[in-house]
Amino acid sequence: MLETTIAGSLPRPDWLAEPEKLKGGWRLSGQALEDGKRRAAAEWLRHQEEAGIDVVTDGEVFRIHFVHGFLEKIRGIDWQKKTLMGIRNDRYKLEVPTVTGPLSRPAPVHLEEVRFTRSQTKKQLKFTLPGPMTICDTIADAHYGSREQMAMAFAEILNQEARDLVAAGVDVIQFDEPAFNVFMQDVKDWGIAALNRACEGLGCTKATHICYGYGIQENIDWKKTLGGEWRQYEEIFPALNGSAVDQVSLECAGSKVPLSLLRLLPDKQLMIGAIQVTGERVETPEEVAATLRAAMAHVDSERVLPCTNCGMTPISYETALGKLKALGAGAGLVRGKPRR
Ligand code: ZN
Repeated sequence: MLETTIAGSLPRPDWLAEPEKLKGGWRLSGQALEDGKRRAAAEWLRHQEEAGIDVVTDGEVFRIHFVHGFLEKIRGIDWQKKTLMGIRNDRYKLEVPTVTGPLSRPAPVHLEEVRFTRSQTKKQLKFTLPGPMTICDTIADAHYGSREQMAMAFAEILNQEARDLVAAGVDVIQFDEPAFNVFMQDVKDWGIAALNRACEGLGCTKATHICYGYGIQENIDWKKTLGGEWRQYEEIFPALNGSAVDQVSLECAGSKVPLSLLRLLPDKQLMIGAIQVTGERVETPEEVAATLRAAMAHVDSERVLPCTNCGMTPISYETALGKLKALGAGAGLVRGKPRR
């Protein structure tokens, strides 16, 4: 009961990359960089195991950004042709590369990383990939003519990639779809269809992480505009409950998402975010336990996976380590004293 996991990313150590930044540059190069990424991943695996995390990740330390890390090896993208785009419905502006031809994946993208990570732990392994809709919100289109068509093309490529990673021993594939609570009508019109296409035929647990974003200033400011109750999920959860994914995430720590919305996903396992991803303080195990118990008032405990709210890339290494320990200990408190 209460298998713990994390949303995905963890901070890169300061000897590997510029710390406490979403896209902090690498501090090593060549073979030293490759060795450094492996060392950082191995260290985070140890930390997760020691903290009692049941479904572990590589901390995403191999990639500089959760979307562009995947796209770098995809054909059909012109990285020189930068387009200034409003991201997440204009929450922030970003210079993004442009799709200029048919998309294809000449070779697996993350396979070597997964082989290494798999060799380093006996725990269940989760691997995160950007979801098709979120990719389409982070890249410009000069070829497909519609986001829906481009998303389907990405979904097909993601599916090929995921199949290779599952064959290499991944237990959970998670598609990150932070765009899902921004474009709610598109989610229903084609976002879930694209997600289902990405999941097709995968012989593993399938998850999706939807969220209100990293604990960065743009998102903190945006959240202030959302009012006293964040009800975006209400619009998409019924459709998501009918999707091919097995697990859906929800941030429950310090968020204004009404926990009653958990009831809209009766057929899914729920990753309950019990750890905030801003860097100011580390939760106590008791706070984590209280968040989990509040969620369990709406979801039977068999479907609850204690988790972090989002990725922890932009916070300090020590804080993230403390938060991992709090998550493991908080879940332990709840397991030890079942309420029912
Ligand atoms: Zn997130």
